[in-house]
Amino acid sequence: GGGAGAAVPHPRWVRVNTLKCADVDEAVRQLDEHLRTTSPSSASAVQRDDLVPYLLALPPGTALHDHPLVAAGRAVLQSKASCLPAAALAPQPGWTVVDACAAPGNKTTQLAAIMGNKGRVIAFDKDPQRLARLRANAALTGAERCIEARCGDFLAADPTAPEFAQVRAVLLDPSCSGSGTTFTRMDHLLPSHRRQGGQAARGQGEGKAAAQAAAQAAEDDEDEEQEEEDDEAASDGSEKGDDAPGGEAGPGRAPLDPAEAARVAPLARFQAAALAHALRFPGLQRLVYSTCSVHAEENEDVVAGALAAAEAAGLELADPFPTWHRRGLPLFPGAEKLIRTDAYQDGTDGFFVALFVRKGAEGGQQE
Ligand code: SAM
Repeated sequence: GGGAGAAVPHPRWVRVNTLKCADVDEAVRQLDEHLRTTSPSSASAVQRDDLVPYLLALPPGTALHDHPLVAAGRAVLQSKASCLPAAALAPQPGWTVVDACAAPGNKTTQLAAIMGNKGRVIAFDKDPQRLARLRANAALTGAERCIEARCGDFLAADPTAPEFAQVRAVLLDPSCSGSGTTFTRMDHLLPSHRRQGGQAARGQGEGKAAAQAAAQAAEDDEDEEQEEEDDEAASDGSEKGDDAPGGEAGPGRAPLDPAEAARVAPLARFQAAALAHALRFPGLQRLVYSTCSVHAEENEDVVAGALAAAEAAGLELADPFPTWHRRGLPLFPGAEKLIRTDAYQDGTDGFFVALFVRKGAEGGQQE
C-alpha cells in the first residue's frame, strides 16, 4: 500500500531475504546509504520492524524496484501484513510444509527463508501463469532447492495420501475480496465518516472496477505493483451513497452492502472449504489461515466455522504475536488470539491471520 491516492501513506516495507543476505544489519546499512544519497535532506532512516526481525521500514514511496538488493533477490518488496502469515506459521528447518494457495510466492519464499532452505515447501496454485511467477521468485531468492511448485487445485489433493504424511504445517492464504488493500487504494472515494477505524468501511461508492482492482490486488498480494492500475480503477465514477446497507451487524462487525455481500459469499465458501481441507493433513502441527480482507465473513466467520473440525483434529487457536495490539473481532471466545492489521492505523494493508497449533505443543511465538 501507500501508493498514489492513499490517505494514509504506508512505509516502504522491505523483507530481507535471509537466504541470500543473512546479515540484516548489512542490508540496513546499504539501505540507509541509499536514503542518504537519494534524499540527503531527509532525516528518516531505516527502521527494523518489531514483530518480524528481518523486516525493514523505509519512508513511504522510497523507490527500490531497481535497488541492487531487490534486483538480486537479497531483499523482497513485501509489506508487513504480507509477512505476518509465514512468520506466524514459523515452520522449523527440515519440516515439510504445504503452501496451499501459493502464487506468486512471496510467502512461499519467506517460508523457505525461515526454514533456512532445509525441508520442503510444497506450493500449490491452480493458475499456471501465476505459478510461473512463483518459480521465478523462488529462483531469484535462492529458495528453489526446497520449493516444489505444483499446478493444481489444492482441494483436489488428498491430505491422507502417503506423500503428505510428513506435512507438519500448512499456510492457507486463499483468494479473497482484497478489501484490506482496497481501503488504502480507494479511500479517497469514501465519505470521511466511513473511514473511521478502517475496518469494514468499504462503502457503496467504489463500484465494480474498484472491486475488480481489489480482487486483482488480493491475488497478487504484491504491494506496490498495482498502484497505477488501481488509480485508473478508482476514477470509475459510480454513484456514492451513505444509505444504510443491508446485512447483519454484530459486535465490531459492519454490514456489507448487497453487491459486496454477493461478491464475498462465494469467496467465503471457498475459504471455508479450503480451511476444512487443510485441517485434514494427519501430521499437522501448525496451520495459518490468512486473508487481505477486512470482512468478518472471510475472517472470523471462516475460523469460527472450522473450530469444531480443528478441535477434532487436536488443534487449537494460538496467539502468534502476543505483543500485537489489534485482535480479531470479538465474535466468539478465542477471537482475541486472532491477528488483524488496520490499513489506517498500522502502517500496512488490512490483513487477518489465524494460527492453529497442536494441543500440548508449544503455543504461539517461537524463537
Ligand atoms: N500466498 C500468495 C503470496 O503470498 O504470494 C498470494 C496468494 S493469492 C491471495 C491466492 C492464490 O490462490 C491465487 O494465486 C489463486 O490462483 C490461488 N487459488 C485459488 N483457488 C485455488 C485452488 N482451489 N487451489 C490452488 N490455488 C488456488
